[in-house]
Amino acid sequence: MKRIIVTGGAGFLGSHLCERLLKENNHVIAIDNFFTGSKENISHLLDNKNFEIIINDIIEYIHVECDEIYNFACPASPIHYQRNPVHTFKTSIFGILNMLNLARDCKARILQASTSEVYGDPLEHPQKENYWGHVNPNGIRSCYDEGKRSAETLMMDYYRQYNTDIKIIRIFNTYGPRMNENDGRVVSNFIIQALQNIPITVYGDGSQTRSFCYCDDLIDGAIKMMNSENFIGPVNLGNPYEMTVLEFAKKIVDMTNSKSQIIFKDLPQDDPIKRQPDITLAKEKLNWKPDYKLEEGLKKTIEYFDNYLKNK
Ligand code: NAD
Ligand code: UDP
Repeated sequence: MKRIIVTGGAGFLGSHLCERLLKENNHVIAIDNFFTGSKENISHLLDNKNFEIIINDIIEYIHVECDEIYNFACPASPIHYQRNPVHTFKTSIFGILNMLNLARDCKARILQASTSEVYGDPLEHPQKENYWGHVNPNGIRSCYDEGKRSAETLMMDYYRQYNTDIKIIRIFNTYGPRMNENDGRVVSNFIIQALQNIPITVYGDGSQTRSFCYCDDLIDGAIKMMNSENFIGPVNLGNPYEMTVLEFAKKIVDMTNSKSQIIFKDLPQDDPIKRQPDITLAKEKLNWKPDYKLEEGLKKTIEYFDNYLKNK
């Protein structure tokens, strides 16, 4: 039985990852400071004798014996990572340093949850791993984008300098049950607004694009990457099916039979105009591609938020 640390284990993706790793008969230790995560996300795991939660900020070093580390701790939505930008940056820098030192001490393998934001507002489309990106170094998204870029630098330097066993995945917009209701992310916002029949808030004219991946597919890819040999990445994980935000708003209205109107609000600063992953590398190296069609994943996510709102 492997001892696996999941930092950010009480968050949206982290909780799905813990669940999968437990099903695969591992001992899972979640480390979380509950900045955006919650006990509810992991309440169904607390009775499992192979699950532990340690309440800790990864900015502080703690020693926990382990074989593998998935570093998922970091607020991921713009409103949350901008709430305390200095802390977000520290999470990416000191947090990953602590986790890399732990991996080195325990001779553990470490996987970093990086992001499509390392490409910034990309000038190449779709984005391949060898594109260096187009990132504002001092804007309101920089605490997250530059933090995640620096974390990749530290991962690669530990690999080159100490031969640490590293893996880097770059996650593109991923959605599903247990997204935080107050995340402000487009999927949760639109679904909640549609279910409540209140106006759907499209930022800008809605012509910016995103490509949405269902959480189960993403978790499959992350685990395949962790278990791969002779490949450290970075590798893109996401669903290449791209659409405009306005098209997405209309799809949510249709799928929920909502009476919501679509309204337009200001586009936030540095909001990327286009985003679509090139997943050729993941297909070749990991034999991975997403299986969920957008409608299938959205149906599950709408059901989740419908129940969540009814039981609130
Ligand atoms: P989330 O906000 O739901 O989860 C993040 C978790 O990390 C939360 O439980 C939070 O409390 C915890 N956390 C934050 N800072 C911490 C710290 N300093 N110490 C300990 N715990 C801390 O977000 P998510 O969508 O599940 O994202 C998980 C990871 O995946 C993040 O690293 C994020 O950058 C990355 N990612 C996610 C997406 C996406 O679309 N969901 C896209 C790209 C990258
Ligand atoms: N967005 C929107 N309305 C909302 C929330 C987000 O139009 O209520 C837009 C946002 O401006 C961006 C896209 O949807 O262009 C995706 O936003 P999200 O915060 O989900 O993720 P990210 O910008 O990090 O990809």
